[in-house]
Amino acid sequence: MSDRKSIYYDFGVSPVINAAGTKTRIGGSLIRPEAVEAMRAAAESFVVLSDLQSAASRLISELTGAEAGYVTSGAGAGMMLAGAAVLARDDFSVMSRLPDTTGIPDEMVMPRTHRTGYDHAFRAAGGEIVDIGTNDYHLGTGSTNVEPWELEEAITEETAAVGYVEKPYTQPELSVVADIAHEHDTPVIVDAAAELPPTTNFSRFIEQGADLVVFSGGKAIRGPQTTGIVAGRQELIESMALQNLDMHIADELWDPPELLSDTDLSSGVPRQGIGRPLKVGKEELAGLLRALELFVEEDQEKQRQRWLRRAEYLDDQLSDIDGLDPHIDCTEESIAPEVVVAIDADVVGSTATELARTLRDGDPRVFVGSDRLHCEEIVLNTMCLEDDQVDYVLDRIVTAIDADYDATTAGFAV
Ligand SMILES: *Cc1c(COP(=O)(O)O)cnc(C)c1O
Repeated sequence: MSDRKSIYYDFGVSPVINAAGTKTRIGGSLIRPEAVEAMRAAAESFVVLSDLQSAASRLISELTGAEAGYVTSGAGAGMMLAGAAVLARDDFSVMSRLPDTTGIPDEMVMPRTHRTGYDHAFRAAGGEIVDIGTNDYHLGTGSTNVEPWELEEAITEETAAVGYVEKPYTQPELSVVADIAHEHDTPVIVDAAAELPPTTNFSRFIEQGADLVVFSGGKAIRGPQTTGIVAGRQELIESMALQNLDMHIADELWDPPELLSDTDLSSGVPRQGIGRPLKVGKEELAGLLRALELFVEEDQEKQRQRWLRRAEYLDDQLSDIDGLDPHIDCTEESIAPEVVVAIDADVVGSTATELARTLRDGDPRVFVGSDRLHCEEIVLNTMCLEDDQVDYVLDRIVTAIDADYDATTAGFAV
C-alpha cells in the first residue's frame, strides 16, 4: 500500500487511512493532483491577489448564478467574513472597528436547531446570535422546530442577518426563511459547507434566496484543505473582500480590481479589516480554482458508483463475520454511501468504541466514522478511501476482533 512511503513518517507521525469521510481533523479530502500542480505552478510567480480573486468571482458567479463570489481560507472563514460583511456593509469606519458593533445592528437570528460549533465565526465578527424556536422535531416531542411567525417576530432594527444551516432535513425551508427576511431587507447567510455533491446545489440555495452561501473547498471539491468559497450579492462580496484583502496599498498607484467595481473609493481605502488574518495565498487560490473547474466537469454518477462498489464489497465481506451486522446507507446525496456496522460486543469481545479505538492505534492508523458509537455502530465511509486501502481496512477490523474469516476469498477488485 502506497502509505508506507507517506511523507508523514519523515516527521515521525503515522498517516491515517480515512474510512470516516471528509473530516477536517484528519485532513479533509485528498486534494486533486491537478490542483497540487496548479499550486506548484502558482508558486513560481507573483500575482496581484485581488486580480486572482476577481477571476475567482467570475468563475463562482458562473457556477452558482450569484452576482459575485470569493475564495476564503475555509467555509468557517467564509462565515466569519460573511458575518463581517452584513455588519459593516460598505461602511469603512465600521470595518475598521469590528468586532466592536456599538451603535449598529448586530443580531444574527438563527433557528435554534441550526446552531453549530461553526457559528462561533458569526460571533467572532461581532455578531450576537439570537436563537429562535424549539428542538421539538429533533427530540420527537413535536412536528416542527420553528414557525415562520417566530422568525418574523425575531427580526427587528437590531437584526444584521439571518443565519441558516443547509441540510436535507433542516426546517423551515430556505425559501420561506428568505422571503420573510427579505421583507425586512435582512440578508440570509447559508452555511452549505458540506452540501456538495450534487453540483446542482451550487445554484440551488442562491435560487432559493440566499444572499450569501458558503461551501468548503476542502471537502468534495477536493481543493486545498484550507479553502472555501462564498457566492452571493455583489455588495456583500465586496464588503467581504475589503475586510479580507491586504489594504496596505499606495492609493495613487492602485487599480481597484474588477471585484470592487461598486465600491466608492473616492475618500480613501479601508484599514486592514477583521478578516485580514484569514489570508488566502496565491497557491491556494490557484489550487481551488483548478479543483472547482474539475469538480463541476466530473461524472458524478460514475464517482458515486466507485464509492458504492467499495461500500458493497465491505458490506458483503463483513456480513459473513459473527457479531457484525452491516448495512449500506446511501440516503444523503451529499454523503458517500456508508457501511453502518452494528457490533454485538458479546460476540466479538469489544464494543464499537473499543473497536474504533483499536483501529486508530495501528500503523497506518484507520479512522472510521464515530457518529454512531452510542448506538454500538461504527460507520465506514468510502469517499476518502482509496481502492488499494479497502482490504487493509477489512484486514484491520478482522484482526482487531480476532474474527474467524477466510481472507483467501477476499480481495477488492476494481
Ligand atoms: C465542514 C463544515 C464547516 C467548516 O468548513 P471548513 O472549510 O473546514 O472551514 C462549516 N459548517 C459545516 C456545516 C461543515 O460541515
